[in-house]
Amino acid sequence: MERLKITQGDITQCQVDAIVNAANTSLLGGGGVDGAIHRAAGPELLAECRTLGGCPTGEAKATKAYRLPCRYVIHTPGPIWHGGTADENRLLASCYRNCLAQASALGCKTVAFPSISTGVYHFPVAHAARIAIDTIQAYLQTHDEITCVTMVCFDAATLAAYQQALEETEPKHA
Ligand code: ADP
Repeated sequence: MERLKITQGDITQCQVDAIVNAANTSLLGGGGVDGAIHRAAGPELLAECRTLGGCPTGEAKATKAYRLPCRYVIHTPGPIWHGGTADENRLLASCYRNCLAQASALGCKTVAFPSISTGVYHFPVAHAARIAIDTIQAYLQTHDEITCVTMVCFDAATLAAYQQALEETEPKHA
């Protein structure tokens, strides 16, 4: 059974143990997936986020999920793309790793990610997909407690980029 899945959809509807929020460093809400998660969770989510004191880029902090159909929201500020010279690759990998470590620590078995940093933060999607897939697969190899990670792509172009990145890592069976 494959433990890494790529799907197209709305992450706020995912029935998993934890969903990841591509947040900003204030953790006080924004547009894109962050706005969608706060709208669906209800105002209690923002109230809990206010107690967290923000979060540095590449790190992750968890909250409860309130009206969402998951148990936890793991908030991670992705790097803003500045052309690739500002440590963006390492920071993006760090987002995925730290979210998965939080999920493990919380006893989660199933986790859903959005495409971190490829919206208003402008990280090139093919490049971000490669980093996401490689980092998630490396984590899964050493962490049996996570049974399924789903990449939830909002649009068809994002879906195609992640499917391509996954295909490139899978050995072809003749
Ligand atoms: P960032 O600031 O990290 O770039 P964005 O929210 O702008 O975050 O975009 C990240 C990705 O999340 C984009 O591919 C965007 O299309 C996608 N997205 C927006 N809404 C949702 C949603 N409800 N479920 C899943 N992905 C979403």
